[in-house]
Amino acid sequence: MKAMVLIKPEPIEKSPLKYTEMPKPDPNRNEIRIKVKTCGVCHTDLHEIEGDLPVKKQSLIPGHEIIGIVDKCGENVNNFSNGDRVGVPWLFSACGKCKYCKRGQENLCDEAKFTGYHVNGGYAEYMVVPSNYAYHIPKVFSDAEAAPLMCAGVIGYRSLRMSQIKPGETLGLFGFGASAHIVIQIAKFWNCEVFVFTRSKNHQEHAKKLGASWVGTSKDTPPKKIDRAISFVPSGLIIHDILRVLDKGGTLAINAVHLTDIPAIPWDLIYYERQIISVANTTRQDAIEFLKLAGEIPIKTEIHAYNLKEANVALQDLKNSKFNGAAVLVMDEN
Ligand SMILES: [Zn+2]
Ligand SMILES: [Zn+2]
Repeated sequence: MKAMVLIKPEPIEKSPLKYTEMPKPDPNRNEIRIKVKTCGVCHTDLHEIEGDLPVKKQSLIPGHEIIGIVDKCGENVNNFSNGDRVGVPWLFSACGKCKYCKRGQENLCDEAKFTGYHVNGGYAEYMVVPSNYAYHIPKVFSDAEAAPLMCAGVIGYRSLRMSQIKPGETLGLFGFGASAHIVIQIAKFWNCEVFVFTRSKNHQEHAKKLGASWVGTSKDTPPKKIDRAISFVPSGLIIHDILRVLDKGGTLAINAVHLTDIPAIPWDLIYYERQIISVANTTRQDAIEFLKLAGEIPIKTEIHAYNLKEANVALQDLKNSKFNGAAVLVMDEN
């Protein structure tokens, strides 16, 4: 099979992913093999490829927003059959035994493995995954539209939950990429007012189209304070700006797998029971709840298609905010 393989982390401008012929993986008894149709391109892939995250596997195939068709089932698999359409997210497996797993926080499991990080992912024609960590995809979505749901969508949904948002409250979104463009649709569905803070004029326009009632940069002051905030920005410098506009009793959820240091926070910015929480990975429950909700709304994802071979270009475009919404690799039909 063909795959885009990372040999050594390097700046994406050097095109570190190499188009390579690899053996087709075989599922073990608890796994399914998937013929990949589409795979979303996520900021986390960029962090892996550029070396912001520690290397977990040599000759890695990245990609954790996978939509495809089951083409082979291990002998113990009973929840999928050949021909089923499935999605695979970032959480590839968890131990199921530790205290985190037992209390519903498998996203924090020390033994958790992540798709396209500890194990090969979806920048390839085939991949394997434990059948208990794959999901049926609502019919309303095409393969390309569904791909960004698997990470940008699921983690966005978890971020919303972690922000403790309630219907009717005011939500601030900081950064407006793949995840935020899905989050805003859920928030609007829940009758929340949404303010969007981003420097990109394109992203500001996109946010307005999707229902933001105010857009600006993190240095601007919105018409009123926000009850909840979600930051998608990988810089700790923005945290002060966010706290400045966060109301008393408000919560800031930071959705970032990698963040630069947060400067010392003056007490005035955090006093009055403001809370900051980081969002780390996702659980199977998040994926199940979110995919159901996404189908009901239904979420409209804005996607930009690239060929598998163009993965380096897609990641460069992502880094430079060249498009609205999400980049998706679409496999050739054969
Ligand atoms: Zn565990
Ligand atoms: Zn991701």
